[in-house]
Amino acid sequence: MSESITGRVRAVLERIEALRPAEGVKLMAVTKTRTREEALEAVRAGAHLIGENKVQEAQEKWASVERGVPLHLIGHLQTNKVKYAIDLFDCIDSIDSDRVAVALDQRVADRLPVMLEVNGGREDSKTGMDPGRVRQFLEQAGRWTHLQFTGMMALFPTTVGTTLDEKKKIRDLMKETGELWRTCQQEGFPWAPLDDLSMGMTDDYEWALEAGTTIIRLGTALFGSRNYL
Ligand SMILES: *Cc1c(COP(=O)(O)O)cnc(C)c1O
Repeated sequence: MSESITGRVRAVLERIEALRPAEGVKLMAVTKTRTREEALEAVRAGAHLIGENKVQEAQEKWASVERGVPLHLIGHLQTNKVKYAIDLFDCIDSIDSDRVAVALDQRVADRLPVMLEVNGGREDSKTGMDPGRVRQFLEQAGRWTHLQFTGMMALFPTTVGTTLDEKKKIRDLMKETGELWRTCQQEGFPWAPLDDLSMGMTDDYEWALEAGTTIIRLGTALFGSRNYL
């Protein structure tokens, strides 16, 4: 792609504004495998958040670096990395089990914003909680007094190389997840305001916007294709 990162970020922001005007939908720049300079260019161009997948990569890139926007962990958190993750990230978006919630809760001194990760397509190959378990999980999440569930992050099957029928299914799954998020939000749990829904990547973000997401997570659309995940 010949266009600059700045140009691509602006194009996405315009797309958000066209589809969901004045709603404050946030663009997360997913910066795995990218340099700090590339990521900061995206931030200067208007990206609202940075998402990293790996604790160690994020540490090398972001420890004591002024970013100007919040840094989120969107990849799986291993319990032996909990301490580093708490020190580095503004929000941990990948809570998908009691185990990781307990590990964080024990280490956090005051309060940490986190998000519940949902496996929107119920795929065996993906992390995230089964949508059918979400409500029950949230009901009892108040016992982790150091965690504040500020949102839900959802993953979906890839749309690449799928038939029209399969694409339609993914679109429907996003709508269902949007409804699940709103239902849980309406429960009004003090420990789970769930202000944000994070879904939609490069190939499906317009569907996510249509389904009511408040954060889209883009890597390829901003930085070009990656050589590895
Ligand atoms: C890599 C990644 C993204 C961004 O994917 P693109 O298709 O490059 O936009 C979003 N969310 C998660 C959890 C990711 O791992």
